Amino acid sequence: KKTITRLPEWLKTPIPTNTNYKKIKHDLRGLGLHTVCEEARCPNISSCWGGSSKSAATATIMLMGDTCTRGCRFCSVKTSRTPPPLDPHEPENTAEALSRWGLGYVVLTSVDRDDLADGGAKHFAETIRRIKAKRSDILVEALTGDFWGNLEMVDVVAQSGLDVYAHNVETVEALTPGVRDRRATFRQSLSVLRRAKEAKEGLITKTSIMLGLGETEEQLWETLRELRKHDVDVVTFGQYMRPTKRHLPVHEYVTPTVFELWRQRALDMGFLYCASGPLVRSSYKAGEAFIENVLK
Ligand code: SF4
Ligand code: SF4
Repeated sequence: KKTITRLPEWLKTPIPTNTNYKKIKHDLRGLGLHTVCEEARCPNISSCWGGSSKSAATATIMLMGDTCTRGCRFCSVKTSRTPPPLDPHEPENTAEALSRWGLGYVVLTSVDRDDLADGGAKHFAETIRRIKAKRSDILVEALTGDFWGNLEMVDVVAQSGLDVYAHNVETVEALTPGVRDRRATFRQSLSVLRRAKEAKEGLITKTSIMLGLGETEEQLWETLRELRKHDVDVVTFGQYMRPTKRHLPVHEYVTPTVFELWRQRALDMGFLYCASGPLVRSSYKAGEAFIENVLK
């Protein structure tokens, strides 16, 4: 059987050089923050940390440890039914470190913690409140799991003072059972997104879809229609990249032209903004997009 061994040209990335990026990287030293950007060696680090201005500089921070109670077939995070307990100092330490770092927009995300009664919602909310108390000008996006359908926990996070609530559907409905952990369903994710929108007036909701898993064009159209029906404001598209051979294979490398086509289609359907490209991750240049499309 033929396997794809070489990456297409458009997935090869240059070494970061941007000066704002270098400064932010230098400032990070000694703050004790763990960024997904660095730990996952994200290829966008220069454009995100650099930003078009300091207020647009974006980074993603992982809360609640590095061990997830779920095991999605596209994700390389390690799994355990009983991860270590939460660090009660994490909300304050994260807020303190972020207030000293030169960022304009922070994405807080976490592993799924089905072992905790509240799924970690209060920990998320506390971290957001403390960040805003120290630096009300930092824009905060929370990228949460589905809290296993416990929608009251969505309220807890949505009402904590954040600016954007993100939850990823990851793929089309038909592929969900083979891609995401069995506790996650497409419908449950739609309920999370709708609930977040209803929980706080003016809150922006956002989701992300990986392409290249074998989804059809019609399935993608249907996904976008469902997202609009649930009042989701922002959608992003990126290429699925296989983390290891034990993970789902890549079905297809989608070309930049097709990514651009989906971006246009999403905008035509009424999404507020859309990042779409082979290297796009859900947090890709999120600060810049928010400043250009929401604050203006
Ligand atoms: Fe960090 Fe996300 Fe940007 Fe990658 S896309 S550098 S993880 S903020
Ligand atoms: Fe990875 Fe999130 Fe799935 Fe956990 S729930 S395995 S962190 S994608």
